[in-house]
Order: sequence, then C-alpha cells, then structure tokens
Amino acid sequence: SDDALVRAVHRIMTHADGRRRLAVRTNADTGADAARARRFGAEGIGLCRTEHMFLGDRRELVERLILARVDDDRAAALAALLPLQRADFEEIFREMAGLPVTVRLIDPPLHEFLPPLEQLAVDVAVAQERGEDVAKEEALLAAVRRMHEENPMLGLRGVRLGLVIPGLFAMQVRAITEAAVAVTRAGSVARPEIMVPLVGAVQELETVRAEAEKIIAEVVGESGVEVLIGTMIEVPRAALTAGQIAEAAEFFSFGTNDLTQMGWGFSRDDVEGAFFWRYLELGIFGISPFESIDADGVGRLVRIAAEEGRAARPELKLGVCGEHGGDPDSVHFFHRVGLDYISCSPFRVPVARLEAGRAAVQTNGSDSR
Ligand code: PEP
Ligand code: MG
Repeated sequence: SDDALVRAVHRIMTHADGRRRLAVRTNADTGADAARARRFGAEGIGLCRTEHMFLGDRRELVERLILARVDDDRAAALAALLPLQRADFEEIFREMAGLPVTVRLIDPPLHEFLPPLEQLAVDVAVAQERGEDVAKEEALLAAVRRMHEENPMLGLRGVRLGLVIPGLFAMQVRAITEAAVAVTRAGSVARPEIMVPLVGAVQELETVRAEAEKIIAEVVGESGVEVLIGTMIEVPRAALTAGQIAEAAEFFSFGTNDLTQMGWGFSRDDVEGAFFWRYLELGIFGISPFESIDADGVGRLVRIAAEEGRAARPELKLGVCGEHGGDPDSVHFFHRVGLDYISCSPFRVPVARLEAGRAAVQTNGSDSR
C-alpha cells in the first residue's frame, strides 16, 4: 500500500542518514527555497547566490552603482540597497534557524546587469535623429561601452568586482551581519558564513577579509553572533595555491561549474553543442563533465585543494556547491575526497542524502580521508 511505501522510503532514508558522513545542504536564494529544502532534509544552505537578489526592480540601482562616476551616486545606490539586502537575509536566516547559511558575495557576469550595448546604441541614434536631447543617454552609452567585455565569464566578476567597486562587498557584509544580529535578538539562531567568489590569489581574499572583519566586529557587538569567512575554490589557480588561501579562509566551497569551465576550457554557457557529441563518441568522457565530476582532471584539483588546504588549516571546513553536488557519482567522489558537506538544489537533497549514505556503506563506513 501507499502507507507501506512511505514507511519503507522513510526507513531507507533514516538508514542512509545514519551512515553518511557528508552533510547535505542546499543551494537556495530565497526564504521559500530554503523552507522547501528544509522539508527535504537539507542541513543548511551551502550556496546563497546573492546576484539573483539584484535583478528585477533593483536592476536600476545596480546599474547606477556599477556605472557611477562620482562617489555620491555610488553611496546613494548602496544606501538604498542595504535595507533591501538586510530583509533578504533576515528571511533566509529565519527559515534556516540553527543551521549554517553560506551567503556568497555578489558574483554577476557584468553583462547581465548592464543594458545591452547594441540596443542602447540604436536607441541613442534614433533619439538623436528625432532631434531629442540625448546627453544623458550618450553618457550612459559611453559608460556601458567602457565596461563592455568580449568574455564576461572571464572578466569583471566575483571578487574582482568587489575589489574595484568601493563599498559593494562592505554593504553586503553589513547587511548579512545586521540580519544575523536581528534574527538572533528575536530569539532565533543565525549562523552566517560569508563566501567570496572567484578568488585566485590569497591577496584578493585577504583584502576582502580585512574590510569585512572590521564591519563584522562593529555590527556583532555583544550579540554573540559568529560570522565565518571563506571562499569558493573555482579558479584552477585557487586549487593550486590552496595552502596559502586556507590561511585566510575558515572554509572552502568548491565551485565545480567554474572549475570545470576553466579546467577544461569549455564554455559553460554554450555547453559545447558543437563538439561534445564527438567527445562522447570517442569516449573521452561518458557524460558531460558539467554533469558528473571529471575525477581524473577537475577532480584532481579538488583533491589537491582539499589536501593542501587541510594541511595548512586542519579545521578547514570543505564543501561543494557546483551542480555536481547533486549528482550521484560525484557525491561518491566527494565522499572519497573527504569533504564535509555537499550542497545541491532543493529537489536533489533526498537523492544526495541517499547517495552520501551509500558512499559511506560502500567504503564500509571507513573514513577515506
Ligand atoms: C560554480 O561555479 O560551481 C558555482 C557554484 O558558482 P556559479 O554556478 O554561481 O558560478
Ligand atoms: Mg562559479
């Protein structure tokens, strides 16, 4: 009967949960996703992508922020964004009460936030022809031209953006910490972990960390809130210098989407429709490396970073938040490498729990670290 089936599934999940060593978190950017994932058994958020919070109504503010030529413009945009961000994070911390929440500082490919260059140029030309005053639009066009990139996924993204736009990361760090303090004062427990994206050199992380620590100390006060600071490992250079980077990070989270893109040099935006079929035909891989971890190559970068990171800082927490976190074979790989947690989309949480349990049983529950 249906009841017996539900009981059997429950028994299997309980068994898997009892055996697995990997914690299972979720990727979630909204309170609704966080709540859904919690019902599926997620034990925290491994990746909250904050760039999604800057789309919609807030795009205009972000545009102002990125294109600001004077500090006043930038400060005004940041001041308007701060309370909005604080509310975003409060909602998420409330849903994930008591569980760790990794909030990643903004990591947008710039082109997603700027008006399309070609369209803008056409609009200006048309308005000019009509004899309209286009001084403002022309200034915008010039600014967008200045920021234009042929290769945005390898451009002004992640930590690079934080290092060149004054106050952007600081605003987010403040919003995260203020939200955690507010939620804690209301009687709940917030466990924020601030994550810096696209780091390739320890100096990038140190620069962000120094500024963040000052803000955190000021905001946390006597509230008892603890804020961790860590980084994505998603640029091959970060994996290869993990020992240095661990000196400035309390945790690593492997961004296997970018690590695969940059490890193989395959564009994740195109997913290589033109030639992957041939690679499959030749057996170079049996499944796209964007779907299942390439254990020999990209996986080796993960292994190196895990080992060297832990050698430098034994208590370093290790997780993964790329798409591979919800792929069964990849889950087994991450277990073998000795990560602490995997993070995947809410609907994949039950499968990830099950596979993490199977991985532990298959190695006889022995610790493969
Ligand atoms: C990644 O690169 O694997 C990752 C989790 O970050 P994003 O997909 O947002 O680039
Ligand atoms: Mg990434």
